[in-house]
Parts: sequence; C-alpha cells; structure tokens
Amino acid sequence: MINSTTVEKFRDLPTPFYYYDLDVLHATCVKVKEESERSGFSIHYAVKANANPRILGIIASYGFGADCVSYNEIARAMECGFSPSTIVFAGVGKTDREIESALKARISCFNCESIAEMEVIDSIAARLKTKAVVALRINPYIEAHTHKYITTAIADSKFGISAWELKDVLDNLSSMSNITLEGIHFHVGSQITRMSVFRSLCSRVNELQEWFTSQNIDLKTINLGGGLGIDYNCPEKMPEFGEYFELVRELVRIRPGQRIHFEPGRSIVAQCGSLITKVLYIKKGSNTTFAVVDAGMTDLIRPALYQAHHEIENLTSGGQTGKYDVVGPICESSDTFAKFIELPETRRGDILAIRSAGAYGEIMASRYNLRDLPGAVFSDEL
Ligand SMILES: *Cc1c(COP(=O)(O)O)cnc(C)c1O
Repeated sequence: MINSTTVEKFRDLPTPFYYYDLDVLHATCVKVKEESERSGFSIHYAVKANANPRILGIIASYGFGADCVSYNEIARAMECGFSPSTIVFAGVGKTDREIESALKARISCFNCESIAEMEVIDSIAARLKTKAVVALRINPYIEAHTHKYITTAIADSKFGISAWELKDVLDNLSSMSNITLEGIHFHVGSQITRMSVFRSLCSRVNELQEWFTSQNIDLKTINLGGGLGIDYNCPEKMPEFGEYFELVRELVRIRPGQRIHFEPGRSIVAQCGSLITKVLYIKKGSNTTFAVVDAGMTDLIRPALYQAHHEIENLTSGGQTGKYDVVGPICESSDTFAKFIELPETRRGDILAIRSAGAYGEIMASRYNLRDLPGAVFSDEL
C-alpha cells in the first residue's frame, strides 16, 4: 500500500524511480509457494521480468529456482542466492561462450530450441569432459490471445522445435553422447489471462507425452513455462495461482516420479512495483489536457512497445476530476503512458504512481536521449 506517510517520503526523493512494496512481493511468494507445494510443482522464477538484486534475493529465499535467458542472468541469479542446481538456461540464441560458462557453473538444464544448438552444446560439453542435461522446447502451436509481440507459440514463431521435427531431433540426439535428455519445455506467451489457453497447453502436453512414450522415452520433467497474466486494472489483486496450478494438476497426466516445472516471471513481480514520477507541466491540447511527467518510455517501455495499460494514480491531489493524457518527455509520440484518463485535478509538482510496473519495467529501461536510468526504492528503506 502506498499510504500518505509513504507519499510524504516520496517528495524528498529524486524522480522518477521504481518503488517496490516488499510486503506485496513476500505475500506473492508465500502464495506461489503454498499453491505450488500443494501440487508438488517446482517453480523457476523467470529472471528477465525483474533482475534487481534485492528482488532476486527475496525470491531466492523462498527456495525457488531461476529461469535465465543469458549467462549474465545466470551469474546474477547465483550472486543473489539461487543455487546453480536450480537454474535452467533458455533462449533461442545462446552463444558458445554462454554455453561454456553455464556448463562450468553446473546449471541444472538447458532448454534447447534447435538441433543446431544441441550440436554445439554437445561439442562444448565433450571438450569440457562433462555432460549437459537438456529439455526440448517444443512449439505447442497454441494461440495465446495476448499481444502479438508476446505470443511465442504460433506456426511461424522463432521459438521452439516443431512437433514434426521431433523424430529427427531424437535421431540426432542418439549420437550426441554428451547430452542427456531430461524433459520437454513449453512457453506459450506472456500476460495470458484466459485459462482456456493453459487448458489447450495441457492437452498438447498429454499428446506429446504419448508420443515420447511410443519412442520409449521417459521424461523426468515437464516444464510448462511462464505466462500467467495479471490484472492490470486492479493493482492490488493477486494473480490466479491457485486456479492455474489446479488446472494443470487436473489435466496433465503426470507420470510417476515426473516433476512439473513452471517459470512465472510477471505474475511474481508485477504487482509489487510502481513507477513514481513527478508532473513537470500541464499543457492544454485541442481535445485533451497533457500532464507531462518526468518519467518516459525509457523508464517504462510497456505502453509504447505493447500498448500496455497501467493504472495511474495521482498521489498528491484530491481535487475535481478531469481528463488527461499522461505523457513523458521523450522525443517519440509513443512516449505516452495513458490517453484520456480520469485524474483528480493535476498540477505541476504532483506525484503520480504508474502501478503494476514491477515486471518488464526497470529491467527494460534504456538511456535513450542520454537519460539517467530510474532508481529503485524499497518499502523497508522509507
Ligand atoms: C519470458 C519467459 C518466461 C516468463 O514469462 P512471464 O509471462 O513473465 O511469466 C518464462 N519462460 C520463458 C521461456 C520465457 O521466455
């Protein structure tokens, strides 16, 4: 909760900055832990959603693993308390150097996306006289019903291996003596709010399991990836972890001894973060009033990149409401946080909170226009 004492403290801090409510982060982790343990599922937090060291340290303290998409993320995760034996390495373009470093760090599994990649992993593992454990990322061909930039499992997506290629993959794998196949991996997309999408994924998983069984392959792990969406209209609302895990428990035909893995990113960190910004100028447009703020798309790119919606609150005004476009200072028209939204009368110096910004916010910040990167402030520091 951002209460009036917190707002008073915000007045003394240089804006813009990310404010992380650690009570919300802890409550979310507790919920995920309870709900996943109930079903015996393993959680690997997707580090790309937010790699702030304090946030990572807290998530690691709950015993979750980490899903990384670069060696730098692996290194950061280890520094922040994740054990390498709980780290998985995903991504369609792992470099030779990254593969070598990850093997040396003894991470638990590579989620592989092509035969070409597995050949490289096999040869590097052979050179290092070690074995690589891999899972095959399979494209399940499911429409995620989310923004096209965050849909990953359709026919012409660059991600994953197609089902028709699997026989070929297995034939190739049999000659790769430094690779052990452990499981299969899926990731349908991000910000998925329709449970029917996960239901379709579960049926695809069952079909594919049958196929692997027919090839005499036992899969130790099935990794369903991330993607659980949050309600951007209700910043206080906990994501539907219970419903999600229960659906998987009911629908996936889990074999004895098999582990089910998940890689939630957004759903763990989105609700704990807000971008705090100050109003610089109020400017009249022909149909609207602009509130020009000191945060821009360099601090939070989601609205510009994905037409994403974030709730915006004026923390310092309780006046008569009016309609505003909340815009940043960057030289791009897409640098707009919200159009024609209702806010109490907003003036220069007011402090706004752009809510549900904990995921894909701070980590995507850039220095375009040579701007400073946004700071990070934690609730227990105020
Ligand atoms: C991005 C990504 C995730 C996390 O997705 P969220 O929507 O943030 O939960 C998990 N797994 C893979 C492979 C990803 O690329």
